[in-house]
Amino acid sequence: MKMYTIPKEVESFIEKAEFGHFINNRYGGNMAKRYLEIINPANEDSLAKVPVAGSDEVDAAVSAARDAFKSPDWHDMSPDSREDLLHRLATLIEEKHETIAAILTLENGKLYAQAKSEVMSAARTFRFYAGWCTKMEGDLIDISLKQPQKKKNFTFLKREAVGVVVAIVPWNFPISIASWKLAPALAAGCTVVLKPSEVCPLSSIYMARLFEEAGFPRGVFNLVVGDGETGALLTTHKNVDKITFTGSTAVGKIIGKSAMENLTAVSLELGGKSPVIVFEDADLKLAAKSVAMGIFRNGGQVCVAGSRAYIQESIFESFLDMLKQEAESMNISDGFDPDADLGPLVSEAHLSRVCDYVEKADNKLRLKTGGHKQEGSGFYMQPTIFTAEDNNSVLASEEVFGPVLLAIPFSDMNHALSMANDSEYGLSSAVWTKDISKALECVHTLDAGWVFVNSIPRSDPNFPIGGNKLSGLGRELGKEGLYAYTKLKSVNIAY
Ligand code: NDP
Repeated sequence: MKMYTIPKEVESFIEKAEFGHFINNRYGGNMAKRYLEIINPANEDSLAKVPVAGSDEVDAAVSAARDAFKSPDWHDMSPDSREDLLHRLATLIEEKHETIAAILTLENGKLYAQAKSEVMSAARTFRFYAGWCTKMEGDLIDISLKQPQKKKNFTFLKREAVGVVVAIVPWNFPISIASWKLAPALAAGCTVVLKPSEVCPLSSIYMARLFEEAGFPRGVFNLVVGDGETGALLTTHKNVDKITFTGSTAVGKIIGKSAMENLTAVSLELGGKSPVIVFEDADLKLAAKSVAMGIFRNGGQVCVAGSRAYIQESIFESFLDMLKQEAESMNISDGFDPDADLGPLVSEAHLSRVCDYVEKADNKLRLKTGGHKQEGSGFYMQPTIFTAEDNNSVLASEEVFGPVLLAIPFSDMNHALSMANDSEYGLSSAVWTKDISKALECVHTLDAGWVFVNSIPRSDPNFPIGGNKLSGLGRELGKEGLYAYTKLKSVNIAY
């Protein structure tokens, strides 16, 4: 493995990471009652200890966000000044992207090249929404209200910032998923309290300073570090106007219920068990590379990972051999190794969860390749492929969130579509065919928030994402992602 030297700035930041929370543009938290240890999944070294926010810190962060929301410094800021702030933030992220990415690889294990592109994509998201600050619109509408003294109606709908937003993000793409929430919320004029995952908070803690450096007034962006208990304190807080959550369906349901207690607005981006359909007429070489990439990149810890591959019977065995070759040629190594294709999984607990799925796989399934964790230090798992005859197994229905693919043959399009839709999830889906009629029929019939034809699921700031069924509520990114942080005010003036 080639060596990589951790930049001095990263080392000195990590030494100070106990100053975890960022409230009113100041770091704090060195007097916490509880701390969390952050582990490098590539070698199991302890990286840092970060404080866990309790109710005092959560109250302080929410109050800071509330005060900032009401303060003229932010509330009355002109749209073009908000735009400038978001552009400045994007520039700072770009300037510091290597440092942020190095921290991200250390805490998460992902490949350094992918960490850099994640951070740069977050900068692009902030730029995309910077442009929206000056483009918010309302509607002028006609209504039929009868007014006294034959007065007329002047009626319009005004979009306003929803208020204080709590953003809770998972560990798999901590920086880009945070940007999908923070950028539109700030563009709309909201204030935010972010809680990163307890496993990977360091990159977000580092980034917090950039909000101050960019010039955001105090209290507009706040961050609290903690675990599920901290998350629950935030999502049950009565002084919050909107919760935006990305994570598991199990936690999403808990948050949805508690949001309804306070009638807090809520968006939920949850899990998936996304199908990929490969027809015999597809560009099979490209499809095999993409199907493998779609499930193995980031160790399969991707909400839109194509974890169920439905392959037409006539090409089933030959296509599976191509997938096996892709899987077996992957170089598993430390994320800083430039030759690595696959880094470690995020934590020991997650690795054992994934291994559990593999070890307890239904005995009707056939293991084609992989199936083992790698011996030695670090939480490494082989890319794994199983085959099955149908959807009747745990691996076909539950989200593993690891590098584990289940391949199933199909006879015709209806058979493929009925198995693809036979899931309680409905996040993403992909279809590989050169036949436009087949592709369009699949687009029409697949019950999923995203459909990709001859392409693997990736995000773009102008491309709304979100799930159907147990995969979530609402959409992020694009114009829809901005309007999710607004509320309508309906105004009637009699004249
Ligand atoms: P979790 O649901 O366990 O956690 C997500 C976040 O919620 C974390 O910050 C977590 O904190 C916090 N949390 C945990 N319990 C509570 C609670 N009771 N109240 C409030 N917050 C809480 O998911 P993971 O972090 O394990 O992420 C993996 C999951 O995320 C997968 O199911 C995946 O599909 C989904 N995901 C969905 C995406 C989408 O766009 N649809 C994108 C990426 C991931 P802590 O970590 O400290 O426990």
